[in-house]
Amino acid sequence: MSNTTEGAGTGRPLNFLEEIIEGSIAKGETRVHTRFPPEPNGYLHIGHAKSICLNFGLARKYGGLCNLRFDDTNPVKEDVEYVDSIKEDITWLGFDWAGEYYASDYFGQLYQWAELLIVKGKAYVDDQSQEQIRQTRGTVTVPGIDSPWRNRTVEENLDLFRRMRAGEFADGEKVLRAKIDMAHPNMLMRDPIMYRIIHTNHHRTGNEWCIYPMYDYAHGESDSIEKITHSICTLEFDVHRPLYDWFIEELGIFPSKQYEFARLNLTYTIMSKRKLLQLVDNKYVNGWDDPRMPTIAALRRRGYTPESIRAFAEKVGVAKRDNIIDLGLLEFCVREDLNRRAERRMAVIDPVKVVITNYPKGKTEYIECVNNPEDESAGKREVPFSNIIYIEREDFMEEPPKKYFRLSPGKEVRLRYAYLIRCDEIIKDTDGKVIELRCTYDPESSGGSSSDGRKVKGVIHWVSAPHAVDIEARLYETLFTKENPDEVEEGKTFLDYINPDSLKIVTAKAEPSLAESAVGDKFQFERIGYFTKDKDSTADKPVFNRTVTLKDTWAKLNK
Ligand code: ATP
Ligand code: MG
Repeated sequence: MSNTTEGAGTGRPLNFLEEIIEGSIAKGETRVHTRFPPEPNGYLHIGHAKSICLNFGLARKYGGLCNLRFDDTNPVKEDVEYVDSIKEDITWLGFDWAGEYYASDYFGQLYQWAELLIVKGKAYVDDQSQEQIRQTRGTVTVPGIDSPWRNRTVEENLDLFRRMRAGEFADGEKVLRAKIDMAHPNMLMRDPIMYRIIHTNHHRTGNEWCIYPMYDYAHGESDSIEKITHSICTLEFDVHRPLYDWFIEELGIFPSKQYEFARLNLTYTIMSKRKLLQLVDNKYVNGWDDPRMPTIAALRRRGYTPESIRAFAEKVGVAKRDNIIDLGLLEFCVREDLNRRAERRMAVIDPVKVVITNYPKGKTEYIECVNNPEDESAGKREVPFSNIIYIEREDFMEEPPKKYFRLSPGKEVRLRYAYLIRCDEIIKDTDGKVIELRCTYDPESSGGSSSDGRKVKGVIHWVSAPHAVDIEARLYETLFTKENPDEVEEGKTFLDYINPDSLKIVTAKAEPSLAESAVGDKFQFERIGYFTKDKDSTADKPVFNRTVTLKDTWAKLNK
């Protein structure tokens, strides 16, 4: 075990969880066993990725283990589709679980422990409806009212609980409650419900059970069964901690301990699975992996790399107070990663035709282009050039302002890796829209530099028209127009802040090599942004998702 005083070799100070662990290690408690406990009721999102990096990361750092445990105690909302996607996403993020567990595997043990608590006089069957229970719980300042069923005998409770299990009662007819204290200052300690009756099929246990344990009863006990040392969860569970400890103490089982950290919130992003499901079900997006979603599946499809998400989780750190992280930081991380490894290509998103009048008609020349200036080993490629090319519409201005260095009438611009061209003539349609630019090139300027040393500042990208392939470019913006879509004005819901322009689809002209790429390949379209080939691609039309533009909003603000 290394004696580390900094986190993950990053030079940063230890986070509070690392401090706790190193404190225990110093006292001789060297075993670190964490778990990641998703409920299989939706796809994992970037917030879960934070929790995954934290739980698996701590285990890795301290030579410990991390379990994957499906917290499948609510049969109504859970599904195997989600189980499969969760495993795929964790693996993709680069982590390996020590064991795959299901809270439902513990239903038998949990049931026995519930009987044990009944026998100890620490649990009772309540005939009140959940609504009555809620109403008699009191408030923060007013104590609750004891249930009329609170003082049933052990025998009666055991009998009723067994009959609950046997299916003699309908949903909602009875519950099992822990017998703690109806005047406890912590509302969660006022005789919390341990079991409720739900007659429905469970995705793993089928019809074996018709009573299901509540989160608070199942979670700590599952941790204990797996001998988890550090049960890390998000801040809103801090009020649950006394209950977590109470069950473990009353049962005298392995003392797992719960620690809370601030959940990840991102600007312009919704993170609740319930709301994400609403977006999917009501077709605001095209499924869980729609690249505008914050799910891991969507980020992957959008072109994010596991490395960029891990770097993001590391940069966000571990906080004890809720905060909201700038989406720009996530974009910064993927840009930094792709800058190092994405090969460059040329594609024109909004094309305008340029005819080079003094370049031989029908001639094709192959121009050598560098694949990645950040990585020499990526080599070079040859890109066809001819007398008709496309350039970006915004790289031409008829009446340019002073510091405009791109193409304008009578002025020269450099074509990336190719020649200098001068604009001689503008051709417009009847509406006045530019449809063609007639230019001349300087044959002596091969490679982009002039032979007489004259300075040409602007460099633009281009694609040879007869060789170009059409690609569908999907240009994404944030899904919400509001920085915090969870904070809604009166009478509105988060759905009122959906960005109508979150997806723009255009047909772009691209260099021919892009037709041969594979789904998932990542490129920097020079001067435009990072793109990845989407699974919707066909032989006739490759589809590319814009992962992120080249504009860095985050680094600028945080200099
Ligand atoms: P949601 O509110 O999105 O439905 P959840 O907490 O109900 O999320 P779970 O499947 O229960 O989803 O979460 C699994 C683990 O991931 C839990 O330990 C939870 O604390 C953690 N987690 C969920 N959301 C976030 C987040 N935004 N930031 C950090 N950790 C999170
Ligand atoms: Mg949950």
